[in-house]
Amino acid sequence: MKWEENVRKVVPYTPGEQPQDQNVIKLNTNENPYPPAPGVMDRIAELSPERMRLYPAFPEQTQLAWALAEYYQIDREQIFIGVGSDDVLSLAFMTFFQSKRPVLFPDITYSFYDVWADLYRIPYEKKALDEQFAIRPEEYRQPNGGVIFPNPNAPTGVLMELSQVEEIVAANRDVVVIVDEAYIDFGGTSCLPLIDTYDNLLVVQTFSKSRSMAGMRIGYAMGSPRLIKYLNDVKYAVNSYTMNYAALQLGLAAVEDVTYFKECCAKIVRTRERAQEQLHRLGFTFPKSYGNFIFASHKNMPAREIFERLKENGIYVRYWDKERIDDHLRITIGTDEQMEKLYRALEKICG
Ligand code: PMP
Repeated sequence: MKWEENVRKVVPYTPGEQPQDQNVIKLNTNENPYPPAPGVMDRIAELSPERMRLYPAFPEQTQLAWALAEYYQIDREQIFIGVGSDDVLSLAFMTFFQSKRPVLFPDITYSFYDVWADLYRIPYEKKALDEQFAIRPEEYRQPNGGVIFPNPNAPTGVLMELSQVEEIVAANRDVVVIVDEAYIDFGGTSCLPLIDTYDNLLVVQTFSKSRSMAGMRIGYAMGSPRLIKYLNDVKYAVNSYTMNYAALQLGLAAVEDVTYFKECCAKIVRTRERAQEQLHRLGFTFPKSYGNFIFASHKNMPAREIFERLKENGIYVRYWDKERIDDHLRITIGTDEQMEKLYRALEKICG
């Protein structure tokens, strides 16, 4: 068809499966197995039909933004809110990666990065992780058009020390460095305090994992007021009303309950530590994880086979048929009960 010549053709990101069967043990997309804070459900009952009739508030001018700024002890001009961190990251790619030089990110990382780069025609270069799946900061010293990496990295779960994150940011003062901290609340140290020193650092976080609200789609970025202003300019050139009224209200209720948030993260960390012992016992190896998932490989059974056998048993984990990682499974940390079922299934499959 002639018109197809002028179509923007992209290879989309492939998200993990979202089975509709409620009986599946879903350990494939790093959701939190626990419900959101109790106050979130109470707030649903208080949602106002009158406010639904109107367009929502601008996200950065809401109580949610102010509550986050207060929680993180930053200025209100240092926060941007979007529709999940995918929205925030996508806008950040569009806003900050305009150079002809390549943007740098790890070869094994969140597989949306190259999709956005291709979508926006951004050149990029992947930098190989070392044999232990660690990011090598020295690889990020060449001239480039920007840098992005998750910390802890996904899908590996490997955490980079704060001093190494700073080393990368400091070596790249002429470009924007984005640190994707989707999983930072499960035991890592955030590089957020660095935003006051480095006006080129953007830190991105999400409500999808540690705050149990993947379904509400809330993500945010923190950085210098200048970075945030540029991000808002692009956002308001695309869509003024990104965040719906309900998400803004319910997100606020989640931020208000600090105790629940901390307990929930601690519970997942405890289950993860036990899961590491159990998986080790079952013949798996993996780098120490700082996320709500474990990136494991079995000593004598191919990952694909385990993936398929688990699925037959109603347990979904994530598998990628990709170079360097096709012998790994990414297993999300579920409740203790779900994990016990996983260990029992694995005992049958590869014990
Ligand atoms: N960054 C990383 C590293 C992720 O794994 C994910 C989850 N797929 C995201 C960002 C996006 O999460 P969300 O859009 O739900 O905030």
